[in-house]
Amino acid sequence: MENNLIITRFPPSPTGYLHVGGARTALFNWLHARHMKGKFILRIEDTDRLRSTQESIDAIFEALDWLEIDWDKGPFFQSERFDIYRKYVEKLLDSGDAYYCTCSPEKLKKMREKAMAAGGKPRYDGICREKGLGSGEDAVVRFRSPRTGTTVLQDTIKGNIVFQNNELDDFIITRSDGTPTYNFVVVVDDITMNINTVIRGDDHVMNTPKQILLYRALNSPLPAFGHVPMVLGSDRTRLSKRHGAMSVLAYREMGYLPDAFLNYLVRLGWSYGDQEFFTRDELIEKFTLSNIGQSPGVFDQEKLLALNAAHIKTVPPNRLVNRLSPFLKAHGYDIQPSPFIESVIKTLNARSKTLKAMAESALFYFKDEISYDDKAANKFLRPGVLPSIQLLIQTLQALDRFEEKDLEGAFLAVMEQTGLKLGKIAQPVRIALTGKTASPGIFEIIEILGKDRVISRLKKAVDFIMEKSD
Ligand code: GLU
Repeated sequence: MENNLIITRFPPSPTGYLHVGGARTALFNWLHARHMKGKFILRIEDTDRLRSTQESIDAIFEALDWLEIDWDKGPFFQSERFDIYRKYVEKLLDSGDAYYCTCSPEKLKKMREKAMAAGGKPRYDGICREKGLGSGEDAVVRFRSPRTGTTVLQDTIKGNIVFQNNELDDFIITRSDGTPTYNFVVVVDDITMNINTVIRGDDHVMNTPKQILLYRALNSPLPAFGHVPMVLGSDRTRLSKRHGAMSVLAYREMGYLPDAFLNYLVRLGWSYGDQEFFTRDELIEKFTLSNIGQSPGVFDQEKLLALNAAHIKTVPPNRLVNRLSPFLKAHGYDIQPSPFIESVIKTLNARSKTLKAMAESALFYFKDEISYDDKAANKFLRPGVLPSIQLLIQTLQALDRFEEKDLEGAFLAVMEQTGLKLGKIAQPVRIALTGKTASPGIFEIIEILGKDRVISRLKKAVDFIMEKSD
């Protein structure tokens, strides 16, 4: 059984924040591991010491944490594994699959020019192959690639891709400063971490034949490779900043739910019939590599927004409290889980596309002083509505209970006595209570705000009208 255990990995290079494409790669690997009841490994590929930063590492952790993508092993840091890489270089040198090369940059430049002049690709000509050079200053280690034959990548997404070996260079596996290169360390890591499934962006397809050759030289079984088409922007060029925010955490700031964001990400490349909405559990249940498509996903902000609205509407309100609270905090309101805040959310979850928008629409519940939208006040808070508001104040004041049924009765009584329709009374009341012409249902708001706040807001509206008409 242990042999069939699926082990996937996510190996970001910490040279910036976690971006949309990276998060999708992480998600596919995570979902595959979770679906197959396998393991998911996190590895930080920080061999590029100049471009890797602690800030990026922290940002990647924070984004994975927000997305609730958890890992079973790691995080491993390549920067802590140089001894292991060294051991594997020695192995390849010993078996003759690698050799030292001391060609100078000028010499290499000439070599490339010569190859191009002969109509070929700019490549290393293998001059140091048989020299038997030892380590020394300025020596690099090169892999001895086969000169003939083909290397076939059996890609689970793209099918077979055939590479001519004579097009593959004797690529460098250790630079002259002793640091190992990407293609080499990734293979050593994937072998030593028992990774058997590699799902990554198809910008890595060209690296894969080199990696396959390294696996063979190290007598290790190949993992299953699957290269996912890139994510594109609306103009079908590769997704970049021009198309909107790239950083995953920017979506948290904008008020997206992590489950909605995951749902959107997975659909950028994977499908399940024409179903669009998936919960996290459903994704784990339904995700299979065979449903990853061959055409690139196009990032569409409007679709993402619509999915976010659908998730906000579906999540039980008590689970939204903690997600909403930072957005209310930004307006100065510190909320704690309570039946009150849950009722507030219930009135807004079907009408909010983001948590940020939900917090803005919820502010009237928390404010001490309601300020009126000018246009709304001019149109609806006029002397003509004074009698009905005053009557409503009296009727509400006399109520013992403040539930929807009682409130309906109170409004009916006012309608009967004034001969006005509900809309004529409700709209000024809405503005008195919320400051705006659009809000959740009037009875819901009144019930949640409670008697004291409702009466005081209605009285304030009466004062406002009287002052204006003086
Ligand atoms: N560190 C590489 C990247 O971020 C990983 C590529 C791979 O999955 O092998 O692109």
